[in-house]
Amino acid sequence: MRILFALAALAAAGPAFAQQSFSIGSLATAPGTMAGGTLEVPARAGDTGTTIPITVINGAAPGPVLALIAGTHGMEYVPIVALQQMRERIDPKTLKGTVIMVHVANMPSFLGRTIYYSPVDGKNLNRVYPGKADGTLSERIADTITREVIARATHVVDLHCGDGNESLRPYSYWITTGDPKVAEAGKAMALAFGLDHIVVDAGRPTDPAASVYTSNTAITRGKPALTTETGGMAVVDSASIELVHRGVAGLMRHLGMGTDGPAPVTTPVLLQRSEVVRAGATGIFYAAVEKGRDVKKGTPLGRITDFHGKTIEEIVAPFDGHILYVVGTPPVSKGEPVAMIGGK
Ligand SMILES: [Zn+2]
Repeated sequence: MRILFALAALAAAGPAFAQQSFSIGSLATAPGTMAGGTLEVPARAGDTGTTIPITVINGAAPGPVLALIAGTHGMEYVPIVALQQMRERIDPKTLKGTVIMVHVANMPSFLGRTIYYSPVDGKNLNRVYPGKADGTLSERIADTITREVIARATHVVDLHCGDGNESLRPYSYWITTGDPKVAEAGKAMALAFGLDHIVVDAGRPTDPAASVYTSNTAITRGKPALTTETGGMAVVDSASIELVHRGVAGLMRHLGMGTDGPAPVTTPVLLQRSEVVRAGATGIFYAAVEKGRDVKKGTPLGRITDFHGKTIEEIVAPFDGHILYVVGTPPVSKGEPVAMIGGK
């Protein structure tokens, strides 16, 4: 009798401990397997819609659901190529939990080779979250990713890179606003990813209906998230790609999804103060500093000339800090970033 009871209890408890098939969009992935598919963003008046290519790696054993999102900005190639390679590096037979890869979040920007903005609606995908089901194309992409990917994940990483015009040193953003427990878990994710420069971001909105950014959409829904920056200038270099592989492996080890990742960074440089320095004029930008350099307040960051070579603006560092990125190509429009500086 006692044995029968124990067996019945075990059978009842069984399904809760066994890994289930994972469904997203029209894609169903059995435990211990990997599958590729697409999320469809249907056409509406004014555009032809788009597709979002995804891969689901569903581990043989249960665990966290980690979403890795690349290509929010279509000319940020390093994370896009890193995820292509990572499909072969994660073994679903030994994985605990599930990895959802979004290979190219912003297909119009990727195929159109645009920085910052969609060529279809002129919007920055990383400023329109959580999106709108009946909105412009960027808003509908955001809505699809919010509903199909972020809603299904327990942890989210938005993998960025210096955009096609940005010369960038690797760093991550740790968002501290919202639920302190989620923020602490987000800090642990940043340390596990292993980029040693971490921008402490205390300025993100806390309203889930106006989350604005991809990572913040997860955070305002109670899911720890991280934004990473590796690579830039539209260059696909193996050193930057390796930072993504190393980072994801470290994160998976931290989350108990795998065992081969590196240990977390122990001596991070926490940048409590940061600023995107913007152009005050439209013209031709000449950088005066390189990425990764320490500067003092007042150090020239670059200058903008008009189209006949006359200097119309000198741009200087607003405080003592470290150059996280600097624009490395000549075109600049008033209000656009020319550099980002982080300081303690
Ligand atoms: Zn980006």
